[in-house]
Amino acid sequence: MEELLERLLEGCRPAARQGRVADYIPELAKGDSEALGIYIMSSEGKRSWAGDCRKAFTIQSIVKPILLLQALLDNGAEYVMSRVGVEATGKPFDAINAGEQSLDSGNINPMVNMGAIVMCSLIHGRDYDERFQRLLELTQRMAGEEEIGVDEAVYQSEKSHGSKNRALAYLLKSHGLLEDDVEAVLDCYFRACSIRVDCRALAHIGAVLSNRGRLPVSNERIFPAAMAQYVNAILMTCGMYDGSGEFALRVGVPAKSGVGGGIMAVVPTRMGIGIFGPALDRKGNSVAGIQLLEQLSKELHLSIF
Ligand code: GLU
Repeated sequence: MEELLERLLEGCRPAARQGRVADYIPELAKGDSEALGIYIMSSEGKRSWAGDCRKAFTIQSIVKPILLLQALLDNGAEYVMSRVGVEATGKPFDAINAGEQSLDSGNINPMVNMGAIVMCSLIHGRDYDERFQRLLELTQRMAGEEEIGVDEAVYQSEKSHGSKNRALAYLLKSHGLLEDDVEAVLDCYFRACSIRVDCRALAHIGAVLSNRGRLPVSNERIFPAAMAQYVNAILMTCGMYDGSGEFALRVGVPAKSGVGGGIMAVVPTRMGIGIFGPALDRKGNSVAGIQLLEQLSKELHLSIF
């Protein structure tokens, strides 16, 4: 397996030149556009890796499925669905979902910013520090790493360049879709996006989703199988922003990308895959990362279709 990963990874490295590191938040612009790494965690606990798989980066949008899980654990599926819908938006992560569609809970998707901001407000806790702490603990458990924390520089950069997210949050508030104080909710969202991970952590998180809510190796249950099904279905239709359709054709598994260059892929019952490749395409997805997943999917017959 290692040999296969090395070979595919080296073949995909040049593709990074077609992409660009995200720069709408200054701290993200410091990413290494040449980096590429992969880590696989099978459901039985077998690990394989290649390239820059232990380089740290921020989780960004890949926290959205974890936010959704925490919201589901705290409120149950019925309530979550009444506050955040499940239909694909086909729009970029920060789209202002108003105009041709009315702004109501059914039109808010949990894998884009508006939905993620609402989900921060659904997490239980006395205050937003406690809510974030609970989200971080779930992330640490799923990743199998207790030391995972926040990248302070990225968090500050997100916070001071967050006008678009503020606009989205105030729009939600003005439509009665967000009850709490906007700045408090956003602070939780910015911290959530700034959690520091690596490919290994993403592979572990993906493996719990592929294992229907159980940790690989110990088999300890973290959330009910029905919740894994809920999250994986949404990842399939909207995990790769407005590139989800093409990703379904080329790779064919539930996945979530982030503008930090990460991709977490879930191969149901088989494995979780973590990818790092910060050079992004115009839709915000890792160019070399998608190519690597596409080739791996062909070699190992991973597509669920
Ligand atoms: N921190 C990012 C934002 O909301 C997350 C974007 C992403 O990874 O899609 O601006």
